[in-house]
Amino acid sequence: MVDLLGQYSHIQEEIDQAVLDVVRSSQYINGPQVHQFSDQLSKYLGGAHVIPCANGTDALQIALMALGLEPGDEVITATFTYVATAEVIALLRLKPVLVDVDPRSFQIDVEAVEKAITPKTKAIVPVHLFGQCADMEPLLKIAEKHNLFVVEDTAQAIGADYHFSDGRVAKAGTMGDIGCTSFFPSKNLGCYGDGGAMFTRNPDLVVKLKQIANHGQSVQYYHDEVGVNSRLDSIQAAILNVKLKHLDAYNAARRKTADAYDAAFANHPLIKTPLRLPNSTHVFHQYTLILDPSVDRDSLRESLMNAGVPAMIYYPVPLHEQKAYRQEGSFPITESLCKSVISLPMHTELTEEQQDFITNTFLQLLENQIQ
Ligand SMILES: *Cc1c(COP(=O)(O)O)cnc(C)c1O
Repeated sequence: MVDLLGQYSHIQEEIDQAVLDVVRSSQYINGPQVHQFSDQLSKYLGGAHVIPCANGTDALQIALMALGLEPGDEVITATFTYVATAEVIALLRLKPVLVDVDPRSFQIDVEAVEKAITPKTKAIVPVHLFGQCADMEPLLKIAEKHNLFVVEDTAQAIGADYHFSDGRVAKAGTMGDIGCTSFFPSKNLGCYGDGGAMFTRNPDLVVKLKQIANHGQSVQYYHDEVGVNSRLDSIQAAILNVKLKHLDAYNAARRKTADAYDAAFANHPLIKTPLRLPNSTHVFHQYTLILDPSVDRDSLRESLMNAGVPAMIYYPVPLHEQKAYRQEGSFPITESLCKSVISLPMHTELTEEQQDFITNTFLQLLENQIQ
């Protein structure tokens, strides 16, 4: 699904030097690389402050901790996503309120969000799933109307641009109160271990987020609130400093692969290619097809794997059907997507030959199956 070694080989000298510099400096925690990376990423994001932390899940947890919510407060998020969002909400004794998604864009259903609002609702956590932005303009309007916080999960969409109707353009993760991202190795901007960050334009939240991530400490050994220990280490920051310079090129390479996939699958009666929203660019963290219900998706996946084409199901089980997060309600779109989506290899190193092999094999195996 990814080729991290191939990507490394193009930047090996620079990475090796950056890592060696940290090793020789012995400033493994909070070295200058961490501040340099926060500054560079902040510039890339159009000036939003960047607070680094240990991983994307921590980023979401610290973000929610910073909002001063009370146990039992409700937080709305999508049921078709990775578990991290619901997990941190529940961990903080808040109530995850899951809603359905749009059938073609996979993004949180804005109408469903508005319907789910109660007097206990305090925040919305949209996930910019697979590399496109959720529809932030109406979501932000709803949040403003009901006085709700917005925490964006942009672990899959770093670098994507959202276009507002007044012509304003903003990077994913910089539109709500706090944006949260992950630098897990396979993300669009990945380090060589774990890493994460929070973004915000609110100076009060900058102080709060930094404090919570550092044991709730205002001054060393003075703890004003219960915090956590969540840091991005210097070696990961050094690697991210090198890779950030390539992020736009990496996202462009992903888009080019998506174009080739789109062309190969265009107008196929059994395949819906990923919809590209008019108000968001797509950075293709995943390339996810929707198959016709007549296709036996799981056996197609198995034949693909046997033929040497990796394919994954993101996500096979919706959050509302997970043992830990079971929730009653009507989620027909998510339930149908969980049975019909399939994701193909998507990374920065796919050659045209590999793309052709993937699409030809896919189409051939699909053909075999319907005969
Ligand atoms: C990867 C991911 C996370 C969690 O990031 P970690 O760094 O693994 O904790 C959260 N949300 C989404 C949507 C993700 O894809």
